[in-house]
Amino acid sequence: MKNFKLVALAATLVLTVSCERETLTNPQETGNQEAFSLAADQCGAMDVLAQQIAADPSLIDRLNTVEAHTKEAIAQGKTARLAADGSIEIPVVFHVIYRTQSENIPLSQIQEQIAALNEDFNLDNPGRTTIPGEFQSVESNIGISFVLEQVIRTYDRRRSWRPDDSMKFVSPTVNPEQNLNIWVVNNMPYRGGNILGYAQFPGGDRATDGIVLDYRFTGNTQYSTGRTATHEVGHWLNLRHIWGDGGCGASDFVADTPDADGPSRGCPTYPTVSCGTNDMTMNFMDYSNDPCLNMFTNGQKSRMLSVFTAGGYREAMAQ
Ligand SMILES: [Zn+2]
Repeated sequence: MKNFKLVALAATLVLTVSCERETLTNPQETGNQEAFSLAADQCGAMDVLAQQIAADPSLIDRLNTVEAHTKEAIAQGKTARLAADGSIEIPVVFHVIYRTQSENIPLSQIQEQIAALNEDFNLDNPGRTTIPGEFQSVESNIGISFVLEQVIRTYDRRRSWRPDDSMKFVSPTVNPEQNLNIWVVNNMPYRGGNILGYAQFPGGDRATDGIVLDYRFTGNTQYSTGRTATHEVGHWLNLRHIWGDGGCGASDFVADTPDADGPSRGCPTYPTVSCGTNDMTMNFMDYSNDPCLNMFTNGQKSRMLSVFTAGGYREAMAQ
């Protein structure tokens, strides 16, 4: 794939956030819960990154530093310090911010989310049996395990949240150099729909480091099998969307993911073709429905693990 500079990325982001978005309709919730419609950009990570760059242009330098380190770590074959079983273990702090009791999700739902992350990062997700033959050779065992460290529950009267990190100051980040912080909130309306979650990329402010999820897309629910968190943790470990947030030729900085001209929706029937190749619609960094997201690649693994190597943004977590 093409080399891609983050300075160029910033320009792309400005264009991206100004694009008109369609709104998709999801099954509506009943009872006292609000109707839910899916924003075309169901993940807010790139928009939040654009907002953060606009507020602090020096973030581009820090992102470029992370990218330079990633490139060097991969080129030199640097490896992260691993646990005795060969894995990297990440403690997870959940911040549940709720207005109603249904939003104050039970511990069992949080544990389901942890289980889904552990499946997806360790080749243990049931859907992987459906991965097409041409992609099986690049499917990768990431070897990261997640352990529930703490659950912090906070009442807040707000009915919705903007994807602007405000929730992270209602329940502040806990030791972000050691922990993955996950905030669960009730609703994130955005650009005519709702986003399911967003993540902050390596290089960002430690005070806002982590991922944010809609409670309906956390663990197992009528909408979710927990793959929104897998996607957002991918961003949190420096993965980009598989279509490179642009058309054909826009890169996700990974060589073994095929070029794609945009996100997939629903549950595509293999094969779908764009940019002259079959799309890897089952990659966790696409927008397919949860049951149809089933794999990371070897190239994505190299990018993710590079942040844990010496000099990497998350080096302290692998020690
Ligand atoms: Zn995303």
